[in-house]
Amino acid sequence: MADYQLLINGELCDAASGETLETYNPANNEKLADLPKAGKQDAVRAIEAGRKAFDEGPWPALSGPERAEKLRAIGALINDNQAELAELEALDSGGTIRKASLADVPGAVQAFEWFAKMAEEQPAKVDLPVAVFPESTNYALYEPLGVCTGIIPWNFPFLMAAWKIAPALAAGNVSIIKPASYTSITALKLAQLITEADLLPPGVLQVLSGPGGSVGEELASNPLVDKVAFTGSTEVGRRIMQLASGTVKPVTLELGGKSANIVLDDADLDQASAAVLWGTFFHGGQVCESGTRALVDKKIYDEFVGVLADKSGKILLGDPMDFMTDIGPLVHRSQAETAERYCALGRDEVGEPICGGAKPEGLPEGLDVNAYFQPTIFTDVPNSAKIAQEEIFGPVLCVIPFESDDEAVAIANDSIYGLAGGVQSSNLERAEGIAARMRTGTVWINDYHMISPDRPFGGYKQSGVGRELGTYGYDIYRQVKHVHVNAESSGRDNHLQYTALSSNI
Ligand code: NAD
Repeated sequence: MADYQLLINGELCDAASGETLETYNPANNEKLADLPKAGKQDAVRAIEAGRKAFDEGPWPALSGPERAEKLRAIGALINDNQAELAELEALDSGGTIRKASLADVPGAVQAFEWFAKMAEEQPAKVDLPVAVFPESTNYALYEPLGVCTGIIPWNFPFLMAAWKIAPALAAGNVSIIKPASYTSITALKLAQLITEADLLPPGVLQVLSGPGGSVGEELASNPLVDKVAFTGSTEVGRRIMQLASGTVKPVTLELGGKSANIVLDDADLDQASAAVLWGTFFHGGQVCESGTRALVDKKIYDEFVGVLADKSGKILLGDPMDFMTDIGPLVHRSQAETAERYCALGRDEVGEPICGGAKPEGLPEGLDVNAYFQPTIFTDVPNSAKIAQEEIFGPVLCVIPFESDDEAVAIANDSIYGLAGGVQSSNLERAEGIAARMRTGTVWINDYHMISPDRPFGGYKQSGVGRELGTYGYDIYRQVKHVHVNAESSGRDNHLQYTALSSNI
Protein backbone atom coordinates (compact mmCIF):
# COMPACT_ATOMS: atom_id res chain seq x y z
CA MET A 1 0.00 0.00 0.00
CA ALA A 2 1.15 3.53 -0.75
CA ASP A 3 2.04 5.95 2.05
CA TYR A 4 -0.48 8.47 0.74
CA GLN A 5 -3.68 7.93 -1.19
CA LEU A 6 -5.59 9.29 -4.13
CA LEU A 7 -8.88 11.07 -3.49
CA ILE A 8 -11.58 9.82 -5.85
CA ASN A 9 -15.31 10.31 -5.29
CA GLY A 10 -14.92 11.16 -1.62
CA GLU A 11 -12.71 8.16 -0.83
CA LEU A 12 -9.01 7.88 -0.15
CA CYS A 13 -7.75 4.96 -2.23
CA ASP A 14 -4.84 3.36 -4.02
CA ALA A 15 -4.50 3.39 -7.80
CA ALA A 16 -6.76 0.81 -9.48
CA SER A 17 -3.65 -0.95 -10.78
CA GLY A 18 -2.10 -0.99 -7.29
CA GLU A 19 1.00 0.62 -8.82
CA THR A 20 3.05 3.14 -6.88
CA LEU A 21 5.67 5.73 -7.70
CA GLU A 22 8.58 6.53 -5.43
CA THR A 23 9.23 10.08 -4.37
CA TYR A 24 12.63 11.27 -3.16
CA ASN A 25 14.02 14.03 -1.03
CA PRO A 26 16.32 15.76 -3.52
CA ALA A 27 18.49 17.18 -0.74
CA ASN A 28 19.89 13.77 0.21
CA ASN A 29 18.46 11.52 -2.52
CA GLU A 30 16.71 9.37 0.08
CA LYS A 31 13.33 7.88 -0.61
CA LEU A 32 10.54 9.78 1.11
CA ALA A 33 7.43 7.80 0.29
CA ASP A 34 5.57 5.49 -2.06
CA LEU A 35 2.73 7.35 -3.75
CA PRO A 36 -0.16 5.86 -5.68
CA LYS A 37 0.51 5.92 -9.40
CA ALA A 38 -2.88 6.65 -10.91
CA GLY A 39 -3.52 5.67 -14.51
CA LYS A 40 -6.10 6.43 -17.16
CA GLN A 41 -8.66 4.20 -15.42
CA ASP A 42 -8.43 6.27 -12.21
CA ALA A 43 -8.64 9.49 -14.19
CA VAL A 44 -11.81 8.34 -15.95
CA ARG A 45 -13.33 7.27 -12.64
CA ALA A 46 -12.57 10.66 -11.11
CA ILE A 47 -13.94 12.54 -14.11
CA GLU A 48 -17.19 10.55 -14.02
CA ALA A 49 -17.51 11.14 -10.27
CA GLY A 50 -16.83 14.83 -10.83
CA ARG A 51 -19.47 14.97 -13.55
CA LYS A 52 -22.02 13.41 -11.21
CA ALA A 53 -21.05 15.70 -8.33
CA PHE A 54 -21.52 18.71 -10.58
CA ASP A 55 -24.68 17.61 -12.41
CA GLU A 56 -26.52 16.11 -9.44
CA GLY A 57 -24.72 17.19 -6.30
CA PRO A 58 -25.38 20.03 -3.92
CA TRP A 59 -22.15 21.95 -4.50
CA PRO A 60 -22.98 24.09 -7.56
CA ALA A 61 -26.38 24.97 -6.06
CA LEU A 62 -24.92 26.38 -2.84
CA SER A 63 -24.96 30.15 -2.54
CA GLY A 64 -21.71 32.08 -2.80
CA PRO A 65 -21.60 32.74 0.96
CA GLU A 66 -22.18 29.03 1.67
CA ARG A 67 -19.27 28.05 -0.55
CA ALA A 68 -17.17 30.83 0.98
CA GLU A 69 -17.67 29.30 4.39
CA LYS A 70 -16.27 25.96 3.15
CA LEU A 71 -13.31 27.64 1.50
CA ARG A 72 -12.50 29.52 4.68
CA ALA A 73 -12.69 26.23 6.56
CA ILE A 74 -10.14 24.73 4.14
CA GLY A 75 -7.90 27.75 4.68
CA ALA A 76 -8.18 27.29 8.44
CA LEU A 77 -7.42 23.58 8.10
CA ILE A 78 -4.23 24.39 6.17
CA ASN A 79 -3.34 26.93 8.82
CA ASP A 80 -3.82 24.38 11.59
CA ASN A 81 -1.50 21.96 9.77
CA GLN A 82 0.96 24.50 8.46
CA ALA A 83 4.07 23.11 10.15
CA GLU A 84 3.55 19.61 8.77
CA LEU A 85 2.60 20.85 5.32
CA ALA A 86 5.62 23.16 5.14
CA GLU A 87 7.94 20.36 6.22
CA LEU A 88 6.51 17.94 3.65
CA GLU A 89 6.74 20.58 0.93
CA ALA A 90 10.39 21.31 1.69
CA LEU A 91 11.35 17.64 1.95
CA ASP A 92 9.59 16.68 -1.27
CA SER A 93 10.55 19.64 -3.49
CA GLY A 94 13.96 20.72 -2.20
CA GLY A 95 12.60 24.23 -1.66
CA THR A 96 13.74 25.72 1.63
CA ILE A 97 11.72 25.38 4.80
CA ARG A 98 11.86 29.18 4.95
CA LYS A 99 10.10 29.46 1.59
CA ALA A 100 7.59 26.75 2.47
CA SER A 101 6.80 28.27 5.87
CA LEU A 102 6.71 31.92 4.84
CA ALA A 103 5.47 31.78 1.24
CA ASP A 104 3.97 28.48 0.09
CA VAL A 105 1.71 27.48 2.96
CA PRO A 106 0.53 30.98 3.96
CA GLY A 107 0.13 31.76 0.25
CA ALA A 108 -2.22 28.81 -0.10
CA VAL A 109 -4.27 30.00 2.89
CA GLN A 110 -4.44 33.48 1.33
CA ALA A 111 -5.68 31.95 -1.94
CA PHE A 112 -8.55 30.16 -0.19
CA GLU A 113 -9.42 33.32 1.72
CA TRP A 114 -9.30 35.51 -1.38
CA PHE A 115 -11.54 33.23 -3.41
CA ALA A 116 -13.92 32.86 -0.45
CA LYS A 117 -14.23 36.64 -0.62
CA MET A 118 -14.87 36.41 -4.38
CA ALA A 119 -17.64 33.82 -3.83
CA GLU A 120 -19.20 36.09 -1.24
CA GLU A 121 -18.87 39.41 -3.03
CA GLN A 122 -19.07 38.78 -6.77
CA PRO A 123 -22.74 38.84 -7.76
CA ALA A 124 -24.21 35.80 -9.49
CA LYS A 125 -26.74 38.01 -11.30
CA VAL A 126 -26.04 41.41 -12.87
CA ASP A 127 -28.65 43.63 -14.53
CA LEU A 128 -27.62 44.71 -18.01
CA PRO A 129 -28.27 48.17 -19.42
CA VAL A 130 -30.63 48.05 -22.38
CA ALA A 131 -29.81 50.20 -25.36
CA VAL A 132 -31.29 48.50 -28.42
CA PHE A 133 -34.49 46.68 -27.40
CA PRO A 134 -36.00 49.01 -24.81
CA GLU A 135 -39.14 46.90 -24.27
CA SER A 136 -37.20 44.24 -22.38
CA THR A 137 -35.23 43.64 -19.26
CA ASN A 138 -31.90 41.88 -19.49
CA TYR A 139 -29.50 40.40 -17.03
CA ALA A 140 -26.41 38.20 -16.89
CA LEU A 141 -26.21 35.07 -14.79
CA TYR A 142 -22.77 33.95 -13.73
CA GLU A 143 -22.62 30.18 -13.51
CA PRO A 144 -19.92 27.61 -12.82
CA LEU A 145 -18.35 25.84 -15.80
CA GLY A 146 -18.59 22.29 -14.47
CA VAL A 147 -15.76 19.77 -14.14
CA CYS A 148 -12.49 21.69 -13.99
CA THR A 149 -9.14 19.92 -14.10
CA GLY A 150 -5.89 21.39 -12.85
CA ILE A 151 -2.51 20.06 -13.95
CA ILE A 152 0.38 21.53 -12.01
CA PRO A 153 4.20 21.64 -12.00
CA TRP A 154 6.81 20.75 -9.39
CA ASN A 155 8.24 24.14 -8.50
CA PHE A 156 5.49 25.41 -6.16
CA PRO A 157 3.41 22.25 -5.71
CA PHE A 158 1.24 23.26 -2.77
CA LEU A 159 0.67 26.85 -3.86
CA MET A 160 -0.16 25.82 -7.43
CA ALA A 161 -2.68 23.28 -6.12
CA ALA A 162 -4.34 26.03 -4.05
CA TRP A 163 -4.38 28.39 -7.04
CA LYS A 164 -6.32 25.80 -9.04
CA ILE A 165 -8.62 24.39 -6.35
CA ALA A 166 -9.72 27.59 -4.59
CA PRO A 167 -11.13 29.58 -7.56
CA ALA A 168 -12.72 26.50 -9.14
CA LEU A 169 -14.59 25.59 -5.95
CA ALA A 170 -15.42 29.20 -5.08
CA ALA A 171 -17.24 29.62 -8.39
CA GLY A 172 -19.24 26.40 -7.84
CA ASN A 173 -17.24 24.00 -10.00
CA VAL A 174 -15.77 20.66 -9.07
CA SER A 175 -12.00 20.27 -9.25
CA ILE A 176 -9.66 17.43 -10.17
CA ILE A 177 -5.98 18.07 -9.51
CA LYS A 178 -2.95 16.28 -10.89
CA PRO A 179 0.30 17.27 -9.20
CA ALA A 180 3.70 16.70 -10.85
CA SER A 181 5.25 13.30 -10.22
CA TYR A 182 8.35 14.66 -8.40
CA THR A 183 6.20 16.57 -5.91
CA SER A 184 2.79 15.06 -5.23
CA ILE A 185 2.86 14.67 -1.46
CA THR A 186 1.36 17.95 -0.29
CA ALA A 187 -1.60 17.85 -2.71
CA LEU A 188 -2.35 14.30 -1.51
CA LYS A 189 -1.94 15.43 2.10
CA LEU A 190 -4.40 18.28 1.55
CA ALA A 191 -6.89 15.82 0.04
CA GLN A 192 -6.49 13.63 3.12
CA LEU A 193 -7.00 16.53 5.54
CA ILE A 194 -10.12 17.78 3.71
CA THR A 195 -11.58 14.28 3.53
CA GLU A 196 -10.95 13.53 7.20
CA ALA A 197 -12.53 16.85 8.14
CA ASP A 198 -15.52 15.98 5.94
CA LEU A 199 -15.52 19.44 4.42
CA LEU A 200 -16.74 18.73 0.89
CA PRO A 201 -19.34 16.46 -0.75
CA PRO A 202 -17.92 13.45 -2.66
CA GLY A 203 -16.45 14.26 -6.07
CA VAL A 204 -16.13 18.01 -5.47
CA LEU A 205 -12.37 17.79 -4.98
CA GLN A 206 -10.34 14.87 -6.31
CA VAL A 207 -6.56 14.46 -6.41
CA LEU A 208 -4.63 12.06 -8.61
CA SER A 209 -0.88 11.56 -8.50
CA GLY A 210 0.34 9.97 -11.72
CA PRO A 211 2.10 10.50 -15.02
CA GLY A 212 1.32 13.39 -17.35
CA GLY A 213 1.25 11.09 -20.36
CA SER A 214 -1.71 9.05 -19.06
CA VAL A 215 -3.54 10.88 -16.24
CA GLY A 216 -2.73 14.38 -17.52
CA GLU A 217 -3.75 13.60 -21.10
CA GLU A 218 -7.08 12.17 -19.92
CA LEU A 219 -7.78 15.20 -17.72
CA ALA A 220 -7.09 17.50 -20.67
CA SER A 221 -9.04 15.60 -23.32
CA ASN A 222 -11.97 13.70 -21.77
CA PRO A 223 -15.26 15.05 -23.19
CA LEU A 224 -16.83 15.16 -19.71
CA VAL A 225 -14.30 17.78 -18.62
CA ASP A 226 -15.42 21.41 -19.03
CA LYS A 227 -12.20 23.32 -18.41
CA VAL A 228 -8.48 22.67 -18.12
CA ALA A 229 -6.15 24.87 -16.13
CA PHE A 230 -2.50 24.04 -16.69
CA THR A 231 0.69 25.38 -15.19
CA GLY A 232 3.93 24.04 -16.58
CA SER A 233 6.25 24.21 -19.55
CA THR A 234 5.31 25.90 -22.82
CA GLU A 235 5.96 22.64 -24.65
CA VAL A 236 3.39 20.70 -22.61
CA GLY A 237 1.07 23.74 -22.69
CA ARG A 238 0.90 23.43 -26.48
CA ARG A 239 -0.07 19.78 -26.09
CA ILE A 240 -2.77 20.67 -23.53
CA MET A 241 -4.26 23.16 -25.97
CA GLN A 242 -4.40 20.49 -28.68
CA LEU A 243 -5.98 17.94 -26.34
CA ALA A 244 -8.57 20.41 -25.06
CA SER A 245 -9.46 21.52 -28.57
CA GLY A 246 -11.13 18.16 -29.32
CA THR A 247 -14.20 19.27 -27.37
CA VAL A 248 -13.39 23.01 -27.44
CA LYS A 249 -12.70 23.32 -23.73
CA PRO A 250 -11.59 26.66 -22.35
CA VAL A 251 -8.00 26.51 -21.16
CA THR A 252 -5.95 28.60 -18.80
CA LEU A 253 -2.24 28.20 -19.45
CA GLU A 254 0.50 29.49 -17.16
CA LEU A 255 3.72 28.61 -18.98
CA GLY A 256 7.41 29.37 -19.12
CA GLY A 257 9.28 32.64 -19.06
CA LYS A 258 12.56 34.42 -19.64
CA SER A 259 11.80 37.65 -17.89
CA ALA A 260 13.86 40.84 -18.15
CA ASN A 261 14.77 42.86 -15.09
CA ILE A 262 15.83 46.30 -16.36
CA VAL A 263 18.29 48.29 -14.26
CA LEU A 264 18.32 51.96 -15.23
CA ASP A 265 21.30 54.25 -14.68
CA ASP A 266 19.47 56.10 -11.89
CA ALA A 267 18.76 52.95 -9.85
CA ASP A 268 19.90 52.54 -6.28
CA LEU A 269 22.56 49.91 -6.88
CA ASP A 270 22.20 48.19 -3.53
CA GLN A 271 18.43 47.84 -3.91
CA ALA A 272 18.61 46.98 -7.63
CA SER A 273 21.26 44.31 -7.14
CA ALA A 274 19.14 42.71 -4.42
CA ALA A 275 16.15 42.77 -6.79
CA VAL A 276 18.22 41.18 -9.56
CA LEU A 277 19.81 38.49 -7.38
CA TRP A 278 16.64 37.63 -5.50
CA GLY A 279 14.68 37.96 -8.73
CA THR A 280 16.82 35.25 -10.32
CA PHE A 281 18.14 32.95 -7.63
CA PHE A 282 15.10 32.61 -5.37
CA HIS A 283 14.26 28.88 -5.23
CA GLY A 284 17.34 28.14 -7.33
CA GLY A 285 15.84 29.91 -10.33
CA GLN A 286 13.03 27.37 -10.56
CA VAL A 287 10.42 30.09 -10.79
CA CYS A 288 8.53 30.72 -14.03
CA GLU A 289 8.70 34.50 -13.71
CA SER A 290 12.37 34.69 -12.58
CA GLY A 291 14.19 37.72 -13.93
CA THR A 292 16.82 35.62 -15.64
CA ARG A 293 17.85 38.40 -18.00
CA ALA A 294 19.25 41.44 -16.17
CA LEU A 295 19.35 44.34 -18.62
CA VAL A 296 21.81 46.90 -17.28
CA ASP A 297 22.46 50.44 -18.53
CA LYS A 298 26.02 50.72 -19.89
CA LYS A 299 26.63 53.83 -17.75
CA ILE A 300 26.54 51.76 -14.57
CA TYR A 301 27.32 48.37 -16.09
CA ASP A 302 30.80 47.64 -14.71
CA GLU A 303 30.00 48.90 -11.24
CA PHE A 304 26.74 46.97 -11.13
CA VAL A 305 28.30 43.72 -12.33
CA GLY A 306 30.91 44.11 -9.56
CA VAL A 307 28.15 44.44 -6.96
CA LEU A 308 26.35 41.37 -8.34
CA ALA A 309 29.52 39.27 -8.22
CA ASP A 310 30.23 40.41 -4.67
CA LYS A 311 26.78 39.75 -3.32
CA SER A 312 26.22 36.46 -5.13
CA GLY A 313 29.08 34.99 -3.09
CA LYS A 314 27.00 35.59 0.03
CA ILE A 315 24.08 33.41 -1.08
CA LEU A 316 23.96 30.41 1.22
CA LEU A 317 23.51 26.99 -0.37
CA GLY A 318 22.76 24.17 2.00
CA ASP A 319 20.27 22.02 3.80
CA PRO A 320 16.78 23.22 2.87
CA MET A 321 15.55 22.26 6.33
CA ASP A 322 17.87 24.87 7.87
CA PHE A 323 15.97 28.15 8.17
CA MET A 324 19.12 30.13 7.25
CA THR A 325 19.61 28.39 3.88
CA ASP A 326 18.91 30.58 0.85
CA ILE A 327 18.97 27.87 -1.82
CA GLY A 328 18.51 24.15 -1.40
CA PRO A 329 18.89 21.50 -4.08
CA LEU A 330 17.08 21.73 -7.38
CA VAL A 331 14.00 19.54 -7.57
CA HIS A 332 15.94 16.61 -8.99
CA ARG A 333 19.42 15.73 -10.15
CA SER A 334 18.19 16.05 -13.73
CA GLN A 335 17.44 19.73 -13.16
CA ALA A 336 21.03 20.31 -11.98
CA GLU A 337 22.21 18.50 -15.12
CA THR A 338 20.10 20.89 -17.20
CA ALA A 339 21.75 23.87 -15.49
CA GLU A 340 25.16 22.29 -16.11
CA ARG A 341 24.35 21.73 -19.77
CA TYR A 342 23.29 25.35 -20.23
CA CYS A 343 26.45 26.54 -18.50
CA ALA A 344 28.55 24.55 -20.96
CA LEU A 345 26.55 26.16 -23.77
CA GLY A 346 27.01 29.58 -22.15
CA ARG A 347 30.78 29.09 -22.01
CA ASP A 348 30.73 28.38 -25.75
CA GLU A 349 28.47 31.32 -26.47
CA VAL A 350 29.90 34.06 -24.22
CA GLY A 351 32.86 32.70 -22.20
CA GLU A 352 33.38 32.02 -18.49
CA PRO A 353 30.69 33.12 -16.04
CA ILE A 354 31.85 35.65 -13.43
CA CYS A 355 30.67 33.31 -10.70
CA GLY A 356 29.26 29.82 -10.27
CA GLY A 357 28.99 27.57 -13.28
CA ALA A 358 29.43 24.32 -11.35
CA LYS A 359 28.17 22.19 -8.51
CA PRO A 360 29.02 23.71 -5.13
CA GLU A 361 31.91 22.56 -2.98
CA GLY A 362 31.86 22.11 0.78
CA LEU A 363 28.20 21.28 1.25
CA PRO A 364 27.35 19.85 4.68
CA GLU A 365 27.76 16.09 4.86
CA GLY A 366 24.77 14.02 3.81
CA LEU A 367 23.58 16.41 1.11
CA ASP A 368 23.50 15.19 -2.48
CA VAL A 369 25.84 17.53 -4.32
CA ASN A 370 24.56 16.21 -7.64
CA ALA A 371 21.23 17.98 -7.09
CA TYR A 372 22.81 21.36 -6.29
CA PHE A 373 24.07 24.08 -8.59
CA GLN A 374 25.85 27.31 -7.78
CA PRO A 375 24.30 30.70 -8.59
CA THR A 376 25.86 31.49 -11.95
CA ILE A 377 26.22 34.83 -13.71
CA PHE A 378 27.14 35.26 -17.36
CA THR A 379 27.93 38.82 -18.43
CA ASP A 380 27.98 40.65 -21.78
CA VAL A 381 25.44 38.19 -23.09
CA PRO A 382 23.92 39.04 -26.47
CA ASN A 383 20.15 38.69 -26.23
CA SER A 384 20.25 36.36 -29.22
CA ALA A 385 22.34 33.78 -27.29
CA LYS A 386 20.50 30.58 -26.47
CA ILE A 387 21.17 31.07 -22.76
CA ALA A 388 19.32 34.40 -23.04
CA GLN A 389 16.42 32.99 -25.04
CA GLU A 390 15.69 29.56 -23.57
CA GLU A 391 14.17 28.89 -20.17
CA ILE A 392 16.81 27.11 -18.05
CA PHE A 393 14.84 26.78 -14.82
CA GLY A 394 18.01 26.80 -12.75
CA PRO A 395 20.18 29.44 -11.05
CA VAL A 396 21.65 31.02 -14.19
CA LEU A 397 21.54 34.78 -14.79
CA CYS A 398 22.39 36.51 -18.08
CA VAL A 399 23.53 40.13 -17.78
CA ILE A 400 22.90 42.11 -20.95
CA PRO A 401 24.10 45.70 -21.49
CA PHE A 402 21.95 48.41 -23.14
CA GLU A 403 22.50 52.04 -24.18
CA SER A 404 19.06 53.65 -24.07
CA ASP A 405 15.64 53.07 -22.55
CA ASP A 406 14.28 52.30 -26.03
CA GLU A 407 16.93 49.64 -26.51
CA ALA A 408 16.13 48.16 -23.08
CA VAL A 409 12.46 47.83 -24.01
CA ALA A 410 13.34 46.30 -27.38
CA ILE A 411 15.63 43.71 -25.77
CA ALA A 412 13.11 42.93 -23.03
CA ASN A 413 10.41 42.30 -25.64
CA ASP A 414 12.71 40.26 -27.89
CA SER A 415 11.61 36.91 -26.45
CA ILE A 416 9.00 34.30 -27.26
CA TYR A 417 7.91 34.67 -23.64
CA GLY A 418 6.09 37.49 -21.89
CA LEU A 419 5.43 36.41 -18.34
CA ALA A 420 6.91 39.13 -16.15
CA GLY A 421 9.70 41.64 -15.74
CA GLY A 422 11.14 44.34 -13.54
CA VAL A 423 12.34 47.92 -13.76
CA GLN A 424 14.76 49.25 -11.16
CA SER A 425 14.97 53.03 -11.08
CA SER A 426 14.73 56.01 -8.74
CA ASN A 427 12.53 57.82 -11.30
CA LEU A 428 9.04 56.33 -11.07
CA GLU A 429 7.66 58.19 -14.05
CA ARG A 430 10.45 56.84 -16.24
CA ALA A 431 10.07 53.33 -14.81
CA GLU A 432 6.31 53.29 -15.29
CA GLY A 433 6.74 54.50 -18.87
CA ILE A 434 9.00 51.51 -19.52
CA ALA A 435 6.66 49.12 -17.69
CA ALA A 436 3.82 50.20 -19.97
CA ARG A 437 5.89 49.24 -23.02
CA MET A 438 6.93 45.80 -21.78
CA ARG A 439 4.86 43.00 -23.32
CA THR A 440 4.48 40.97 -20.16
CA GLY A 441 1.70 40.04 -17.77
CA THR A 442 3.41 41.55 -14.71
CA VAL A 443 6.04 44.24 -14.14
CA TRP A 444 7.56 44.94 -10.74
CA ILE A 445 9.09 48.36 -10.20
CA ASN A 446 11.87 48.45 -7.61
CA ASP A 447 10.85 44.98 -6.54
CA TYR A 448 10.49 41.42 -7.77
CA HIS A 449 8.44 38.23 -7.23
CA MET A 450 5.58 40.12 -5.55
CA ILE A 451 2.64 37.86 -6.34
CA SER A 452 -0.52 37.70 -4.29
CA PRO A 453 -3.96 36.19 -4.83
CA ASP A 454 -5.69 39.57 -5.13
CA ARG A 455 -3.77 40.58 -8.30
CA PRO A 456 -3.90 39.01 -11.76
CA PHE A 457 -1.03 36.79 -12.85
CA GLY A 458 -0.32 35.33 -16.28
CA GLY A 459 1.58 35.72 -19.48
CA TYR A 460 1.65 37.43 -22.85
CA LYS A 461 2.86 35.56 -25.94
CA GLN A 462 4.03 31.98 -25.34
CA SER A 463 3.94 32.44 -21.57
CA GLY A 464 0.29 31.60 -21.48
CA VAL A 465 -3.38 32.18 -22.01
CA GLY A 466 -5.63 33.90 -19.49
CA ARG A 467 -4.97 35.25 -16.02
CA GLU A 468 -5.13 33.51 -12.68
CA LEU A 469 -5.82 35.26 -9.37
CA GLY A 470 -7.50 38.59 -8.75
CA THR A 471 -11.08 39.00 -9.93
CA TYR A 472 -9.92 37.82 -13.39
CA GLY A 473 -8.90 34.50 -11.89
CA TYR A 474 -12.40 34.06 -10.51
CA ASP A 475 -14.16 34.90 -13.76
CA ILE A 476 -12.20 32.30 -15.76
CA TYR A 477 -14.10 29.70 -13.75
CA ARG A 478 -17.54 31.11 -14.63
CA GLN A 479 -19.87 31.06 -17.59
CA VAL A 480 -21.94 34.12 -18.45
CA LYS A 481 -25.54 33.58 -19.49
CA HIS A 482 -27.58 36.42 -20.96
CA VAL A 483 -31.29 36.28 -20.09
CA HIS A 484 -33.65 38.49 -22.11
CA VAL A 485 -37.18 39.06 -20.74
CA ASN A 486 -39.77 40.56 -23.06
CA ALA A 487 -41.62 43.36 -21.27
CA GLU A 488 -44.91 42.06 -22.65
CA SER A 489 -45.53 38.77 -20.91
CA SER A 490 -48.53 37.95 -23.07
CA GLY A 491 -49.38 38.66 -26.69
CA ARG A 492 -47.15 39.19 -29.61
CA ASP A 493 -43.39 39.51 -29.10
CA ASN A 494 -42.91 43.18 -29.74
CA HIS A 495 -39.45 42.49 -31.10
CA LEU A 496 -40.44 40.15 -33.88
CA GLN A 497 -41.40 43.18 -35.91
CA TYR A 498 -37.71 43.61 -36.60
CA THR A 499 -37.43 40.29 -38.38
CA ALA A 500 -38.49 39.47 -41.91
CA LEU A 501 -40.45 36.48 -40.60
CA SER A 502 -42.72 38.41 -38.28
CA SER A 503 -45.42 39.36 -40.74
CA ASN A 504 -46.00 35.72 -41.73
CA ILE A 505 -46.47 34.04 -38.34
P1 NAD B 1 5.90 20.18 -17.20
O1 NAD B 1 5.26 20.93 -18.31
O2 NAD B 1 6.91 19.17 -17.52
O3 NAD B 1 4.79 19.45 -16.31
C1 NAD B 1 3.71 20.15 -15.74
C2 NAD B 1 2.60 19.16 -15.45
O4 NAD B 1 2.10 18.64 -16.68
C3 NAD B 1 3.01 17.96 -14.62
O5 NAD B 1 1.99 17.64 -13.71
C4 NAD B 1 3.18 16.88 -15.67
O6 NAD B 1 3.00 15.58 -15.15
C5 NAD B 1 2.06 17.23 -16.63
N1 NAD B 1 2.21 16.73 -18.00
C6 NAD B 1 3.36 16.40 -18.64
N2 NAD B 1 3.08 15.96 -19.89
C7 NAD B 1 1.73 16.01 -20.03
C8 NAD B 1 0.84 15.70 -21.10
N3 NAD B 1 1.28 15.24 -22.27
N4 NAD B 1 -0.48 15.89 -20.92
C9 NAD B 1 -0.95 16.37 -19.74
N5 NAD B 1 -0.15 16.67 -18.68
C10 NAD B 1 1.18 16.50 -18.83
O7 NAD B 1 6.48 21.32 -16.23
P2 NAD B 1 7.38 21.13 -14.93
O8 NAD B 1 8.72 20.66 -15.40
O9 NAD B 1 6.64 20.35 -13.91
O10 NAD B 1 7.47 22.63 -14.38
C11 NAD B 1 8.35 23.58 -14.89
C12 NAD B 1 7.69 24.46 -15.93
O11 NAD B 1 6.51 25.05 -15.39
C13 NAD B 1 8.55 25.63 -16.35
O12 NAD B 1 8.48 25.78 -17.74
C14 NAD B 1 7.91 26.83 -15.66
O13 NAD B 1 8.14 28.05 -16.28
C15 NAD B 1 6.49 26.44 -15.68
N6 NAD B 1 5.75 27.17 -14.65
C16 NAD B 1 4.94 28.20 -15.03
C17 NAD B 1 4.25 28.94 -14.08
C18 NAD B 1 3.35 30.09 -14.47
O14 NAD B 1 2.52 30.46 -13.66
N7 NAD B 1 3.49 30.65 -15.66
C19 NAD B 1 4.37 28.62 -12.73
C20 NAD B 1 5.19 27.56 -12.37
C21 NAD B 1 5.87 26.83 -13.36
